[in-house]
Amino acid sequence: MPPILIVGAGPVSLTAAAELARYGLPVRILDRSPRPAETSRAIVVWSRTLELMDRMGCAASFLEAGHRVRGAAIRSGGRVLGCTSFGDIASAYDFALIVPQSDTERLLTAHLRNYGIIVEREVELASFTASDDRVTARLVHADGREEEAETPWLVGCDGAHSAVRHGLGAEFRGATQRDDWVLADVRLEGAGSPPADEITTYLHQDGPLVVFPMRGGRARLIAAVGEAGPDQPRTEPSLADVQALLDHRAGGEVRALDPVWLAAFRINGRKSRDYRVGRVFLAGDAAHIHSPAGGQGMNTGIQDAINLAWKLAMVAKGGATPALLDSYSPERSAVGEMVLRNASRMTDMATLSNPAAVAARNAVPHFVLGFHAAQERLALTLSEIEIAYPDSPLSSGRHAGTRLAPDNYDGPPPGSGAVPRSCSTPPTRRAARNSRHASRRSWNRDPGRRPSPAGC
Ligand SMILES: Cc1cc2nc3c(=O)[nH]c(=O)nc-3n(C[C@H](O)[C@H](O)[C@H](O)COP(=O)(O)OP(=O)(O)OC[C@H]3O[C@@H](n4cnc5c(N)ncnc54)[C@H](O)[C@@H]3O)c2cc1C
Repeated sequence: MPPILIVGAGPVSLTAAAELARYGLPVRILDRSPRPAETSRAIVVWSRTLELMDRMGCAASFLEAGHRVRGAAIRSGGRVLGCTSFGDIASAYDFALIVPQSDTERLLTAHLRNYGIIVEREVELASFTASDDRVTARLVHADGREEEAETPWLVGCDGAHSAVRHGLGAEFRGATQRDDWVLADVRLEGAGSPPADEITTYLHQDGPLVVFPMRGGRARLIAAVGEAGPDQPRTEPSLADVQALLDHRAGGEVRALDPVWLAAFRINGRKSRDYRVGRVFLAGDAAHIHSPAGGQGMNTGIQDAINLAWKLAMVAKGGATPALLDSYSPERSAVGEMVLRNASRMTDMATLSNPAAVAARNAVPHFVLGFHAAQERLALTLSEIEIAYPDSPLSSGRHAGTRLAPDNYDGPPPGSGAVPRSCSTPPTRRAARNSRHASRRSWNRDPGRRPSPAGC
């Protein structure tokens, strides 16, 4: 079989390539950029992604590199309006792991190298044609050489401006918000600094300021700063601008030092309706982009890649009919829809400016997050452990498509190793008693109307 062609070498492509390689399939991964990006960008790796990384065999390196965060708080100046503890997340990874995206890409590249696969750099996908039995891609190398590459499947993980999505003529419906945001990767000092194991959102009538703690006393700050002008996005902030934001919104006694990245950005919320056209697939930012609120973008993309990889592997190895691939887009597009909705709700709520609305908004977290159930719900949503596929074409029967929680299996996570099965270990007695999980385990050939492996 010719290699499956993966376009891009961001976190989503690297995951797709590593997973396909783990299942023993030939893979080619290429990126037009000469080197990996060095900026921190996505910094939160959530529980569900860590569970799946455990299955991939690379969770340990992430745990070693990352900084564990135990909860999130919403504050107004010095006053705590509400908080949630990630300790309520029903996962072995009951925390948020802060890992700069540059490190995530480095760790995934190293993981991929274990399978003998190296990213081909300075190779650009220029165009492609797809037929019923193959895809032919036109690749352009750094020296201008052109190459025609045939592949059984083309996987576009080539980011928000995806050439694969453009090649499919797929719409990317949504909007760009007019508000400008600033981002700063700095060191924080001072008695008023937020706790190093908490994601802190300061609500303010001028806009929210969110502080993500990082390793070594560093932090990522993002803040909404209003609209600079419709056609003139704000220029990158200075350290003094960042300090002014802290003074104004965080209630004083916090100093920002040693900036390594200062940037301005605008929030896009867009999504492709279909993630698959025949032999061509979209995953990650190529398929959906959203507000960084909740830190779900990269996590959702990584989970797209994992969902697609086991299905491609089952079909390529003859363990399932190609109809299995029909489930990828409905399952992942529904998740993308939900993430987009949640992220824009959180952003809209945090960016209110009308004083009456602000007063009401500040009262809501104070009231709602006073209840344990509401705190737990927020943690579960952020951690993505509740992602399930009850409406998947693969799901039939009660509880089909729901998550196989870690306490329902022993040993390595289901789906570990070279065989893409939903459960590779004998069920525990507790799980055996549980018919909803037992029904999923029996799934193998003929995916027609069968339950989907839980939450992957
Ligand atoms: C400021 C900021 C903060 C963020 N914070 C978070 C967060 O906390 N948590 C979170 O989950 N997400 C966050 N995100 C989102 C996250 O960065 C993205 O979701 C993630 O990078 C998407 O990964 P990807 O692999 O899909 O695409 P990308 O990382 O964009 O990678 C795409 C790759 O494709 C390559 N490419 C493009 N076109 C071609 C072509 N034609 N041929 C060959 N190669 C091509 C590019 O060079 C690039 O390397 C944040 C984003 C930003 C901007």
